[in-house]
Amino acid sequence: MLSSAGLALRRWASGCQGGRRTLATVISGNKTSQLVRERLKKDVEKMRKEVPGFRPGLVVLQVGDRDDSNLYISMKLKAAAEIGIDANHIRLPKSSTEEEVLSCIMSVNENPAIHGLIVQLPLDSVHRIDTEAVTDAVSPLKDVDGLTSINAGKLSRGDLGQCFIPCTPNGCMELIRQTGVSVVGKNVVVIGRSKIVGAPMHDLLLWSHATVTTCHSKTTDLPDHVGRADILVVGAGRAEMVKGDWVKEGAVVIDCGINHVPDDSKPSGKRVVGDVHYSSARERAGYITPVPGGVGPMTVAMLMENTVQSAWRFVRRQQSG
Ligand code: NDP
Repeated sequence: MLSSAGLALRRWASGCQGGRRTLATVISGNKTSQLVRERLKKDVEKMRKEVPGFRPGLVVLQVGDRDDSNLYISMKLKAAAEIGIDANHIRLPKSSTEEEVLSCIMSVNENPAIHGLIVQLPLDSVHRIDTEAVTDAVSPLKDVDGLTSINAGKLSRGDLGQCFIPCTPNGCMELIRQTGVSVVGKNVVVIGRSKIVGAPMHDLLLWSHATVTTCHSKTTDLPDHVGRADILVVGAGRAEMVKGDWVKEGAVVIDCGINHVPDDSKPSGKRVVGDVHYSSARERAGYITPVPGGVGPMTVAMLMENTVQSAWRFVRRQQSG
């Protein structure tokens, strides 16, 4: 019988070819998101044939003028336009009160030409605005970010066909699908439990029949948990926190992190890294997402997917009277 060290050595050796360790296959979010967007474009054309003159409508509501939000919004508007979605950007001034933001949301909720409404976070107002109250004011029928309590509740109960799935976890699932590795029965570890990434990722994996462990800032023995993960999804917001030698041989590693670290070799003086130490993890994983070019582009693609899905639901409701 082999000792645990012997087993580890055999596992490591099985990943070597001709004495050299094979690197993990890179899962490209750029390529996958392109495929999703092409599919959605055809879907919108089909919808417009079925209902002449109809276009899916999306509103991105921004409060204030943050540079990072402006960049993300321009990416969303561009992707929407390419697919044939009628995308509208509403920018409220920094002086907006919570009441004014809520009133804007109500009018979009009531507009039948709009099928998706997202509130760009964080809200950049000089007043204190309750973000929770604002995101929850979005009609669940138009909540294409999947952030309302109603949609989150449905997802946590496994009613996947009745809700909008938050875009980043949905994108992660699509990337896992690309590997051909089934999540059914697998040990999956999620690092992070935020409402936008970790918690819905947990729910989605659970109801896709994985056995899920969710870790957070109070988790002890994080490397130990990571070492048992057949599939690892990280959304902690900690630059290169997960080290390569924590990762199980052959695991699927999905890195949601977007962190800016100093880099004197770049004209900007910084570069973007994920929450996983990419080069060392690539030596052990079977599949890995890069940062940038991994989960990021999928988040935008899944927002488009949810908007088109919402428009189809609207069309079907109209048709059934
Ligand atoms: P949050 O800060 O809201 O949540 C971070 C989560 O990670 C929390 O649950 C926190 O635990 C946990 N955490 C923090 N430090 C540790 C640690 N040392 N060990 C274990 N768990 C830890 O971040 P978000 O969920 O909004 O985002 C996570 C990352 O994903 C960020 O880098 C963000 O930029 C990126 N992101 C990327 C997107 C994309 O499109 N690619 C979209 C959205 C986010 P606790 O709950 O205990 O505090």
